Amino acid sequence: MTSTSDRTDTTGATAARAPRSVLVTGGNRGIGLSVARAFAAAGDRVAVTYRSGEPPAGFFGVRADVTDPASLDAAFAAVEAEQGAVEVLVANAGTNRDQLLMRMSDEEFDTVLDANLAGAWRVARRAVRGMVRAKRGRIIFMSSVVGMYGSPGQTNYAASKSGMVGLARSIARELGSRGITANVIAPGFIDTDMTRELPEATQAQYKGQIPAGRFGDAADVAQAALFLADAGYVNGAVLPVDGGLGMGH
Ligand code: NDP
Repeated sequence: MTSTSDRTDTTGATAARAPRSVLVTGGNRGIGLSVARAFAAAGDRVAVTYRSGEPPAGFFGVRADVTDPASLDAAFAAVEAEQGAVEVLVANAGTNRDQLLMRMSDEEFDTVLDANLAGAWRVARRAVRGMVRAKRGRIIFMSSVVGMYGSPGQTNYAASKSGMVGLARSIARELGSRGITANVIAPGFIDTDMTRELPEATQAQYKGQIPAGRFGDAADVAQAALFLADAGYVNGAVLPVDGGLGMGH
């Protein structure tokens, strides 16, 4: 792709910039797909990871499981060959196994921590190789409001999501001087497969606590990802996209 996008800077001037090499993990559906579409619409070259089936049409799809370092390494190599080293990483892949603490198995805890936290750490570790070489990069971690707010039945999920804050902030301190930023998006309840699985009564209860009075749209989260990819002087931040649910955390 050779097109450039128009960007408006803080003085109101419009400047063209080259398309970036973007990788979105779990970009085959839900929030990840919406993020991938937003970057593509902004003129970037976008690759997505998927685990099974077919990748979404219009994207360079690489099969990878974030719990499997070898599959990630192969995926990054394929992306680098196709569109250059990853300049913007959106570590979005995530899962949940909700259960009350007393009943939660080690397997339920480990599965969620391995995919959400260790998985995000693995993709970041692989991505910074190219970013350090290029002396620029954007890492965006998809956390959750519950990482800071807490949520009954989600001790595993909340721990994995709050862990991303320490992860991002440590990367920011370690690599900030190399032109690399690491930030966190903390979505609230977003209308995707993950939230559609909740019982209707639970959905209604959650909506009652959200100042916006509704669940968010995946496009709301995508907008925040685009902002963080553009922002050069925002580092180690947690950006809520939650209709006001978690304010103050
Ligand atoms: P979905 O369940 O719709 O999609 C999850 C995505 O992650 C899928 O693409 C899935 O791939 C991928 N994924 C899961 N486990 C792995 C793995 N081990 N390796 C690679 N890919 C994996 O979720 P959402 O779109 O709703 O959520 C996206 C992210 O946003 C998650 O990290 C989630 O925790 C977070 N989030 C979501 C909120 C919401 O309200 N929806 C709120 C706050 C945070 P596959 O299709 O193969 O299963």
